[in-house]
Amino acid sequence: MNSLRSEAIKKLSLNPAGFDIEAADKVTDIFNENVFTLSVARSFLSDEAFKSLVSSIKGGKKIDRNIGNQIAAGMRAWAESKQVTHFTHWFQPLTGLSAEKHDSFFTLKSDGVAIEEFEGNALIQQEPDASSFPSGGLRETFEARGYTAWDPTSPAFIMETAEGKTLCIPTIFVSYTGESLDTKTPLLRSIVALDKAAVDVCQLFDKNVSKVTTTLGWEQEYFVIDSGIANARPDLLLTGRTVFGHAPAKGQQLDDHYFGSIPERVYAFMREFEKESYRLGIPLRTRHNEVAPSQFECAPIFEEANLAVDHNTLLMDVMSRVAKRHNLTVLFHEKPFAGINGSGKHNNWSMSTDTGVNLLAPGKTPKTNLMFLTFFVNTIKAVHDYADLIRASIASAGNEHRLGANEAPPAIISIFVGKHLTNVLNQIEKRVSDDFDEQDEAILKLDIHKSIPELMLDNTDRNRTSPFAFTGNKFEFRAVGSSANCAIPMTVLNTAVTATLKAFKQEVDALMEKGEKKEIAIMQTLQKYIVESKNILFEGDGYSAAWEKEAAQRGLPNVKSTPEALDAFVTEKAKTLFEGNQIYNHLEMEARHEIMLEAYIKKIQIEARVMGDLVTTHIVPASVKYQNILLENINGLKAAGLTEAAWKNQLEIVTKISEHVGVISELVTSMIEARKKANNLEHSRDMAMSYYYDVKEKHFHKLRYHVDKLELIVDDSIWTLPKYRELVFMR
Ligand code: ADP
Ligand code: MG
Repeated sequence: MNSLRSEAIKKLSLNPAGFDIEAADKVTDIFNENVFTLSVARSFLSDEAFKSLVSSIKGGKKIDRNIGNQIAAGMRAWAESKQVTHFTHWFQPLTGLSAEKHDSFFTLKSDGVAIEEFEGNALIQQEPDASSFPSGGLRETFEARGYTAWDPTSPAFIMETAEGKTLCIPTIFVSYTGESLDTKTPLLRSIVALDKAAVDVCQLFDKNVSKVTTTLGWEQEYFVIDSGIANARPDLLLTGRTVFGHAPAKGQQLDDHYFGSIPERVYAFMREFEKESYRLGIPLRTRHNEVAPSQFECAPIFEEANLAVDHNTLLMDVMSRVAKRHNLTVLFHEKPFAGINGSGKHNNWSMSTDTGVNLLAPGKTPKTNLMFLTFFVNTIKAVHDYADLIRASIASAGNEHRLGANEAPPAIISIFVGKHLTNVLNQIEKRVSDDFDEQDEAILKLDIHKSIPELMLDNTDRNRTSPFAFTGNKFEFRAVGSSANCAIPMTVLNTAVTATLKAFKQEVDALMEKGEKKEIAIMQTLQKYIVESKNILFEGDGYSAAWEKEAAQRGLPNVKSTPEALDAFVTEKAKTLFEGNQIYNHLEMEARHEIMLEAYIKKIQIEARVMGDLVTTHIVPASVKYQNILLENINGLKAAGLTEAAWKNQLEIVTKISEHVGVISELVTSMIEARKKANNLEHSRDMAMSYYYDVKEKHFHKLRYHVDKLELIVDDSIWTLPKYRELVFMR
């Protein structure tokens, strides 16, 4: 065996654990060390500049040029005290990843004198040469330039790499005419919209509420594998997943990895990326093994949603970088290995008021109870009414392997609320609406908060198969893909809830104008909402075939393909929702739709090419080589005068190999034809659908089936691609 595979396996034992655990710091000593926090700002800025920064963060106030210069100078002084030489605007273009363009503080004055400088202009606005980021035609339509503009609500931070230190300034990315070219701008707009709508509703209960913040706590799942072994798999390298590979004799059936002890080498990697994360202010809290071998999860303490999204993007970056130092590769793909659990990114979402109330935490008094019920029911109604958009917000080529592919969670959007709250909703629903009178105010006194300890205590009762579950004091959107930028699903969810809360407020106001008592008006509207959205509530096993059937009977959509799911973004309903709430105008929406379709097409295209390449240059040659060895053996046995009994078995294997190779070759040819056909289609939507159906559905599974059969037959020492057991069990 003389291949990358064998080299990688040989080298594996040489990899050191490589992190000095003794030297590990106390988290509180290093937390935020690399962040321009408000307390750092306080000591580096004048009173005037500091006040302006704070009011810009808290109240969205504009920072004037002069103050901008002062803030920039303070930032530079702080950064230089930490040996930073460069700065960059850090943004999240529509690729979903993060982008940077580094500039030096160093500059030459007109008289040729060299100085270090960082002006307000450079802090507040930049024009990166970012013309190759996807814009879905937006930049072409308006103006070639795209601008990055400082987002003061997410603090600047210092990124440390082996090459040096860079001051990173979180920014939005917009076109000359103000159309958003990134994921952050719409998220910020949706946070503002939800704030306003939620405050209006809160006012029904508490006049002191003047701001509502969206909170997000993500849970990031990922795989970690040895880089040497990963590099010997062209498919992993190019697509982030294995397109072939037979399941190992031992998979995850023993569940022995789940919550087991973390392997030393991975542990060292975790310690190091956690340390970097703490210094960047990412409040990581938990780490553990996941269900699949080599799969892990980490989660922070929740934060304000904009910051949480930045921190997730940043973390993925830090993890990938730190992994390299350990000769490890992190896989964020939703489905790197067939037959082994995929990865997701649960988005725990809630809203909290400036009076310190979590709006999704059941209250202890009738008044707070009703406020909780209001936000709880409105969220259910929002997810019900905009289920198609919620589904679209998590659609991608990677996530397609999870949603709708017999793996959790299903492509059907449903909501789990638990026994206790199901009861509460049933009770409210059963009342005839005229029946809400004084004596029925008993319902307001339901001990809803008692469901919390119950939910928390009985962990097994927590339905893990639901794509959208209420988990005590927040909703957990579980169907988000592990590689996704949380901004997109969060933007859609925020907007759907905004629209629902606005409508709710109007209905309640209308009833009150007719003379209805406030509490009764609220209860009547909630009752109506429960009736209208109850078919999205589901407590059973979301992975079961029975649920698919039942969901179909209930009329719930079950869209399996990405291109079809994405259609939801360009309906009249979506246009009304997003334009009406000033989140995306229809151009921004159409541009995103186009970009997502293109991304899908490219991904499937690359996968198809990689499959073809691997078949031609790895699978068939190895198979033929083994066949020749067998034929030589057969001929030798024949020459020695042995009878058929001696070579019958070998001949059978030779025949089988020929059969599989024959089918594979035909499939590859037909897949190329299908690609040509798809490429000739004019509209992205048609092309994406053809890539989904003609290229992927008709070929990928079959091709894989035959290749994986060959893997089981061919001499292991000839097989060039690292096998699953090596990928997921060796480290
Ligand atoms: P799990 O059992 O799913 O791991 P946890 O209780 O550990 O659930 O919490 C998961 C995530 O939910 C954490 O990231 C946590 O910060 C987040 N979370 C908790 N409360 C809220 C909230 N009010 N808003 C948003 N996220 C929250
Ligand atoms: Mg969770």
